Amino acid sequence: SHPVYGRIDGPIVIIGFGSIGKGTLPLIQRHFDHDSDKLVVIDPNPDTHLFLSQHNVRHEQIAITLENYKDVLGRQFPDGKGFCVNLSVDTSSLDLMKFCRELGVLYIDTVVEPWAGYYFDTEDNAERTNYALRQKVRDEKAANPGGTTAVSCCGANPGMVSWFVKEALLTLAQDTGREVTAPTDKAGWAAMMQELGVKGVHIAERDTQARRQPRPRGTFVNTWSVEGFIAEGFQPAELGWGTHETWFPENGHRPTTGCMAGIWLDRPGAITRVHSWCPTPGPQFGFLVTHNEAISISDYYTVGDPANPDFRPTCHYAYHPSDDAVLSLHEMFGSGRQQTDFEILDVDEIVEGIDELGVLLYGHEKNALWYGSRLSNAETRKLAPYQNATGMQVTSAVLAGMVWAMENPQAGIVETDEMDHARCLEVQRPYLGPVEAHYTDWTPLKDRWEHFPEDIDETDPWQFRNVLAT
Ligand code: NAD
Repeated sequence: SHPVYGRIDGPIVIIGFGSIGKGTLPLIQRHFDHDSDKLVVIDPNPDTHLFLSQHNVRHEQIAITLENYKDVLGRQFPDGKGFCVNLSVDTSSLDLMKFCRELGVLYIDTVVEPWAGYYFDTEDNAERTNYALRQKVRDEKAANPGGTTAVSCCGANPGMVSWFVKEALLTLAQDTGREVTAPTDKAGWAAMMQELGVKGVHIAERDTQARRQPRPRGTFVNTWSVEGFIAEGFQPAELGWGTHETWFPENGHRPTTGCMAGIWLDRPGAITRVHSWCPTPGPQFGFLVTHNEAISISDYYTVGDPANPDFRPTCHYAYHPSDDAVLSLHEMFGSGRQQTDFEILDVDEIVEGIDELGVLLYGHEKNALWYGSRLSNAETRKLAPYQNATGMQVTSAVLAGMVWAMENPQAGIVETDEMDHARCLEVQRPYLGPVEAHYTDWTPLKDRWEHFPEDIDETDPWQFRNVLAT
């Protein structure tokens, strides 16, 4: 009963077999016609070997590095056909995508990842931002336009949330009595957001998945990559910076080159809190963890000269991870050292909870609209094996991105903002549980504790100054 979206001729190489790789494998097997003997997983972790051999999938137990990637991938793709699905940590997305495009091999990833060591060994904080990492990919796109498709940052977020922004804009247009025609290009979408009066977008997420066992002290528990989360959590807090902002953070830095859409703060994202809103909790704190989509969305919806725009939305992540992950962060930052034990909550040990991941479009005539997926772990179990709700939202976006790439094989380097959101959501939606739109009259000036003075702007609720918690 599952649709088959096409045939992948040539090898399918999955790099990285952690929580996302393991969840993506059954979707690839289910939805693409392919030769199973041409499916291979590259991952240095010996623990994955038993699982893969039981499932008759070839395993190359090797770490991809700057020194070996051309040899290893060149061998896997001898005749310029196939698909490279990069779901690892510690491998350079930019180098791998460039090489795949040279080979004529389709490529997809879920994050702009640098080579091992970059996140912690780089001393200049500006260099450690996602702005800098993303800009290198955008520069490569500009220098070498077109050619074999490489989809950059196509997970849940970054990824699916960019498709949700467009659905939310269409919903808002309809609900405010406008004539609704979906724009067909960047200029059209940006003009639509501006015309609707949207000031900004939170990527507003609440993960309530929990297991019965309390978190053991000294263990970092998360619902997806612990290494990935620690790395991004220690990057500077970062956001797309909108034209409605009248205040500027004291520890803020503006870029001097590139798309000019973002700013970063001299503080790690995972201890920088923001006021935000999701349907289940209502008002909540989220962490201002840096993400590619914070920059890409602000960039995509810019109207006018990038250095001095007529319109640009503010955009950032407001992430309340699972409660165990919040405690893990608290312990890690408090102790000044990383835990040595890492655990990713498994679909079968989770006893309750959902991953509620959406976009909160704010500042318009209906105040704020949250649009997103409210997928439970219990439902995920019925949809596909080997993953929790968080994983499912990511792997189904990878599936959608792969389908789009096969249908558009010569689109060059693209981000999810630049893809056909309707087609991608059509593929992904069966895996997202309830996808809902919720309006709220909440603003960052509501539901605050009023016992102490705060540095806020009471005349303009949606200023970032009010969103940032001190
Ligand atoms: P994970 O930590 O569970 O697994 C990562 C895997 O990569 C491990 O199996 C590890 O052995 C492997 N690996 C490490 N170094 C490697 C190398 N040099 N070559 C090949 N493999 C290597 O991580 P995960 O939860 O599966 O996440 C994978 C990636 O997806 C991360 O980069 C993460 O940031 C990203 N991600 C993106 C989203 C999104 O929504 N966009 C969501 C979740 C994860």
